[in-house]
Amino acid sequence: MTAQQQVFDTDVAVVGAGITGLTAAHHLARQGFGVVVAEADTRAGGAIGTTRAGGFLIEHGPNSLLDTNPSLHQLFGELGLAEHMVYASYQARNRYIVRDNRLHALPMSPPALIRSRLLSRRGKLRLLAEPLVRRAPADAEETLAEFVERRLGREFLDYAIDAFVAGVYAGVPHRLSVRDAFPKLHRLEERYGGVFKGAILGRRERRRSGQQAKQSARMFSFREGLQTLVDALAAERGAALRLGHRLTRLERHGSGYRLEFATAGGRQDLSARVVLMAIPAHGYPQVQSELDLDQARQSLARIEAPPVSMVFLGYRQQPAGHALDGFGFLIPTCEHRRILGTLFSSSLFPDRAPAGGAALTTFVGGMRQPELAGQSDEDLLALVRHDLADLLQITAPPDEVVIRRWQRAIPQYQIGHRALMAALEQTEARHPGLFLHGNFRGGISVGDCIEQSGHIAARLGAHLRPT
Ligand SMILES: Cc1cc2nc3c(=O)[nH]c(=O)nc-3n(C[C@H](O)[C@H](O)[C@H](O)COP(=O)(O)OP(=O)(O)OC[C@H]3O[C@@H](n4cnc5c(N)ncnc54)[C@H](O)[C@@H]3O)c2cc1C
Repeated sequence: MTAQQQVFDTDVAVVGAGITGLTAAHHLARQGFGVVVAEADTRAGGAIGTTRAGGFLIEHGPNSLLDTNPSLHQLFGELGLAEHMVYASYQARNRYIVRDNRLHALPMSPPALIRSRLLSRRGKLRLLAEPLVRRAPADAEETLAEFVERRLGREFLDYAIDAFVAGVYAGVPHRLSVRDAFPKLHRLEERYGGVFKGAILGRRERRRSGQQAKQSARMFSFREGLQTLVDALAAERGAALRLGHRLTRLERHGSGYRLEFATAGGRQDLSARVVLMAIPAHGYPQVQSELDLDQARQSLARIEAPPVSMVFLGYRQQPAGHALDGFGFLIPTCEHRRILGTLFSSSLFPDRAPAGGAALTTFVGGMRQPELAGQSDEDLLALVRHDLADLLQITAPPDEVVIRRWQRAIPQYQIGHRALMAALEQTEARHPGLFLHGNFRGGISVGDCIEQSGHIAARLGAHLRPT
């Protein structure tokens, strides 16, 4: 039977209805392809999930996106979501970092840096020497810690970067690859010879391409939280969404693929011309196959993703203590605390708490202290309240508590990540029409996943419609 004669249930089977799978499905449906999205869970969204309780709005996974790329606006425009977007409040510019048990505002300008007590005089002088530091050899594989210490000094690493990495990756800088985890930072040195020089010169190029640097990009969400985005994508008629469909087997089927799903009603089969796997790296061992996927499976199994627990505390009245006038705070490892940091959720976006109240979202665990994420609810609550009492002087009991555990929260792009991704490309090359994507490839943020999904849809489209 030729490829032309073979009949498939659908052009594209997308496995996994997280933001990667849903966005790719959206683009493919708009290109006119038949798309089925199969999701193991009974809800779509994967890591993204918003609930309401007692008048509070609770984000269980990601809290915000950065307005870095025009492709985000294009997607929101297509989904009719532009008017639902909310930008972070003006006061959210204040970001705090803990040093010596006190919150210090992260300096956002050179004069603020000079005044700041976050870094010592010596640490500040070391920053000034950055333009004199030589470039690393082109083939150097450095950790983020090695890169930052070499270019910006130990104190900046300990008090700025370490805390930042806990906030973004729930990671630690001596395990992440600078080239893979922070490609834009790495490129500043590679391309311009230094971080400060690159930040200045790169601005002009970004302006031309409509891109925005992460450090200056505005932060946003939607009035009803990030679930709004998932719901809009899931409600689209172009792609058929099948919830409660866990992929258990993937096999070749003529020129395409056959997929077997476990559902509440028993086994369901689907044939597709192409398959986009958009499940997390740790989901692959549960999928059986006679296809030669060993190389990809071994690579994906090597990607570490630590557990993280989210502890949400809601207060009907603003509790006595810190003014909560900012984005929140992050804690460097050297401060020896048990929480990673806290978002001042009700200061960040409107309507996250009843009028006059407050909402705090704290993260525990990560690569730094994975064992803490697995504690009982009672212990997690106690340790969060202890650290918030110390750092924010908030001792009032919360009116609402929500705890969400992520067993494998965020994939860590460590040294060697590039080689693991090359192995995925080789697997894809051996299996035309099979694509392996997700937040382990091309960036972990929701914005990165959305941007990648555009590229993925273009690749799939080119495969389905060869010139
Ligand atoms: C606690 C936390 C906080 C975060 N904070 C932020 C933030 O503030 N900003 C930001 O930009 N990013 C943040 N991130 C990162 C970001 O949310 C994720 O990287 C991104 O949402 C991942 O999307 P994805 O579609 O690739 O994967 P996922 O969201 O993991 O989706 C994969 C889907 O595949 C499904 N699946 C798995 N196995 C199967 C199977 N066999 N068959 C069918 N379906 C299957 C899963 O059920 C899931 O729905 C955070 C992540 C976490 C966990």
